[in-house]
Amino acid sequence: MSILSTTRLTKQYGSESNIVKALDNVTLSIEQGEFVAVIGTSGSGKSTLLNMLGGLDRPTSGSIKVDKFELGKLSDEDLTVFRRQRIGFIFQNYNLVPILNVYENIVMPIQLDGKKPDETFIMEIVSLLGLEKKLDNMPNHLSGGQQQRVAIARALASKPAIILADEPTGNLDSKTSDEVIQLLKLTGSQYRQTIVMITHNPEIARQADRIIRIEDGKITE
Ligand code: ADP
Ligand code: ADP
Repeated sequence: MSILSTTRLTKQYGSESNIVKALDNVTLSIEQGEFVAVIGTSGSGKSTLLNMLGGLDRPTSGSIKVDKFELGKLSDEDLTVFRRQRIGFIFQNYNLVPILNVYENIVMPIQLDGKKPDETFIMEIVSLLGLEKKLDNMPNHLSGGQQQRVAIARALASKPAIILADEPTGNLDSKTSDEVIQLLKLTGSQYRQTIVMITHNPEIARQADRIIRIEDGKITE
């Protein structure tokens, strides 16, 4: 069953004399539970695609369907709720809050949403990700790999159906990158999540179920 799909998705930046077509008529479909890698050179439109799928930005034309939601039909408020409840984001720079400890970082999005964290579930993912002894640490006392594991835990904490990861291993050495990808695959299968991951690294991409290549805003493979 398709959980994520786009139809003739187009995104332009700029205006008149200086138009950049970041995405050009992209039609794709991703199955529930699939782990998809998106590759392509810098500036090819990968981040733009991920931002559209996650409802962080709106297309110039075309449509995006996530689960049963047609994103173009949601108001800004509904789009925010959609994002909080269905999507877990993971970024290259981890984006942890420096003044909060690991535990507080992990539960922060749930608290922002006015909900109580499911402590049993939080401790399950903390343990899967090997972070039990780090809960009281501040992010700047952790290695890059540990920080990314915290970011993964934070993305998983709200039990989203979809994980969108933008170069999650971009700042990690190859051994740590492998560990992070193995953990993403493990949690993905454990919680039957759909994962869309941008990467520059062909070895990382090879670990996915499917590779989508983008060039100049078009899917070429
Ligand atoms: P990638 O993630 O593959 O490096 P992006 O999706 O970031 O590519 O960018 C695709 C194209 O859109 C690039 O030419 C980039 O310069 C342009 N672009 C991206 N974001 C913006 C923006 N906010 N304003 C103007 N141009 C942008
Ligand atoms: P407070 O006393 O402010 O309510 P908490 O009990 O939420 O603080 O957290 C105290 C510390 O214990 C936190 O810094 C966190 O790292 C850790 N912690 C919180 N909840 C758990 C938990 N369920 N399991 C393990 N460690 C936890």
